Amino acid sequence: MPIFLKRIPLYIQIFIALLLGVGVGTVLGGGQPSPENVSLLNNLAIPCTLILKALKALATPLILLAVLHVFLTAELPQKSGRRLAFLLLTNTLVAILIGLTVANIVQPGKWGQLAPPQTAITATKPLDPWGLLQDSVPQAVVQPLVDNNVIQLIVVALAFGIGLRGIKAQQLKEGKTDYLPIEQVITTLLETVMKILSWLISIVPIAVFGIVAKTVGIQGFAPFQALAAFILAVLLALFLQSCYYLTRVQFGSWVGIRRFLTGGADALITAFSTASSTITMPVTFRVLKEKVGLRESSASLGALVGSNFNNDGTALYEAMAALFIAQALGINLSLEQQVIVILTSIVASVGAAGIPEAGLVTMTLVFSSVGLPTEYIALLVTVDWFLDRCRTSINVMGDMTVSALLDGKVPQTEEELILQPAVATAAIRD
Ligand code: ASP
Repeated sequence: MPIFLKRIPLYIQIFIALLLGVGVGTVLGGGQPSPENVSLLNNLAIPCTLILKALKALATPLILLAVLHVFLTAELPQKSGRRLAFLLLTNTLVAILIGLTVANIVQPGKWGQLAPPQTAITATKPLDPWGLLQDSVPQAVVQPLVDNNVIQLIVVALAFGIGLRGIKAQQLKEGKTDYLPIEQVITTLLETVMKILSWLISIVPIAVFGIVAKTVGIQGFAPFQALAAFILAVLLALFLQSCYYLTRVQFGSWVGIRRFLTGGADALITAFSTASSTITMPVTFRVLKEKVGLRESSASLGALVGSNFNNDGTALYEAMAALFIAQALGINLSLEQQVIVILTSIVASVGAAGIPEAGLVTMTLVFSSVGLPTEYIALLVTVDWFLDRCRTSINVMGDMTVSALLDGKVPQTEEELILQPAVATAAIRD
């Protein structure tokens, strides 16, 4: 990429691409293109198709590696580990339920029209729990990676993750280090996938330009009407999720709402401006410890573990996006299919890395699980630069909430403050 482009923040590049796309789309047809322009407009969308295909291809290895990495490297004290897992799961479930409720009530997809997909839709097939169970074990270990099958992928990832963790613990007891090369390979592969993702994300502006030009050129502005309604619905759902967090903090910890918000403001603002909960992680840890005044152990558990795989904002967004596209295409997702959306959104949010636009990668799996055509994610790419920032702030607020709840109803005493180990601080610094 040219050096001068690197200096322009990605969201500004995307914004410029959006404006250019609107301009070119209007000139080339604005909803009523001539037959020659139709093929030109279709070709402009090729970069977007390629990026989406690459994201889809990377989604399963990303989730597999992320889960294995967590199992191999996470160090959790047993008691708080169980409480942490419970808090993470309930918060994510609430987030998805809020998202689905808002999407079902507001029905943003009905506010505009989308062109029917080029591929056949299979979303109407009814859910068969027994069939799902029979299908949960793959024919071959690598099959879920080929088929992009989330349930099979999780079965494989959990089996290998739990197995590796057990072997590591055993070897540590015996003073052996045979597990280390595997741990290093998994960490390096995960970093490599992230690197490739960052390349893909840096060319998103080209995709946005093409897809906006094509959409405006062929369909005019009707799809954007629905997108505007979708943005409002997502913002409303994220707001409700933040109210849920504040209520939990108020009643489940010693930290008052005001202290939580003023103390944590730096982390929330950093999350919004970077769109990355991983980059925000050291700030989250510092403000929780120094400004909110949590114990070091609770601050580090929430910030470290949370920023890795607690992404409630992402879960909420993925579920809403699936429902939105289904509505816009006139497909009725049954209750059972919405349950599948809930399950896959949980997996997708755990697997989403804490980097900008990561939610788009794992969204391909949520769409595939209920047979929705992934080509429509392209449309969401156009507004993701903004919604990503909002959901990242909620992701970070979720981590902060978990930390506050782990800290309990009693603030730390002066003695605790003096005695606390510097281990977690060092871990975060490194
Ligand atoms: N950008 C989000 C984060 O860093 C992940 C996502 O794309 O949803 O938390």
